[in-house]
Amino acid sequence: MLKRFLCLMLALLCCVSCCVSFAESTEEESNKGEILFISPTEVAEDVPAGENAPFVPEALSGNEDEPDKAVIGTDNRSNVNPSKYPYSAICYMEINGQCGHSWTGTGFMIDPDWMLTAGHCMVCTEHDMWADSMTLYFGYRSKSDYLYRYNGKWSAWANNDLFNTDAYSANDYAYVKLYKNVGDTTGWFGMRYGMSDAEYEAEWFNVAGYRAGKIKTSIGYAEPYNSNQILHYADTEPGYSGCPVFDDQYYAVAINTAHFTDNSANIGRRITTQLYYDMLDSGMPKE
Ligand SMILES: [Zn+2]
Repeated sequence: MLKRFLCLMLALLCCVSCCVSFAESTEEESNKGEILFISPTEVAEDVPAGENAPFVPEALSGNEDEPDKAVIGTDNRSNVNPSKYPYSAICYMEINGQCGHSWTGTGFMIDPDWMLTAGHCMVCTEHDMWADSMTLYFGYRSKSDYLYRYNGKWSAWANNDLFNTDAYSANDYAYVKLYKNVGDTTGWFGMRYGMSDAEYEAEWFNVAGYRAGKIKTSIGYAEPYNSNQILHYADTEPGYSGCPVFDDQYYAVAINTAHFTDNSANIGRRITTQLYYDMLDSGMPKE
């Protein structure tokens, strides 16, 4: 399994290409954050799998934009209304690195003020330098048309072994604390953590992510890859890194992180019990 992993060079879905950022001298640098590193907590072997319920704000409920289900093969991604739940809980991330480069990615709310994304969305993969500041757009259509913009302070927890080649993708996740209850406006996804292989194989899952500022969704089946990752077959594009893989009840089951360069499958990072407990250990409240 690992062999295939190393031979097939994973393509990360995050940045199309790095571009030099424009320093906006007029804007105060309030959206800077800190990168913290996860010290895994001890999780007892017998901790059961669990669920944290999704939240749909009253104003965003009644989703008439749910797309028709479709399968992988041709481009089956459907357009959606970005400001309707659950898409409202997914953000278009504009990130600036410590190296001066900027890039984009996708993240999704899992609590009023906590977000999940791919670990490599917090890194300039060209220079291996971490994010310095970022702006999150929810319900994004353009820089002047969106549901919610978060441009404040943040703290992100990433795995220090993210750059370890052998385990790169298995450690490709980050969780982010925002200092405002963004989710009260955008809603958030529930989480199904500690899912079994059989549960991943039992149903089809959705993905929805931002590519160049436009959000689309698609659906596909999934299968286990290893204890930390799944393979899934919903259509994705560059930019979808960090987007949710979620069920029909709007519970996230994985973080979309990468795809094989031969397009045979996409890779999702499981929301393992370990990951869930690490988030609690970092201060995320238990529902
Ligand atoms: Zn860079």
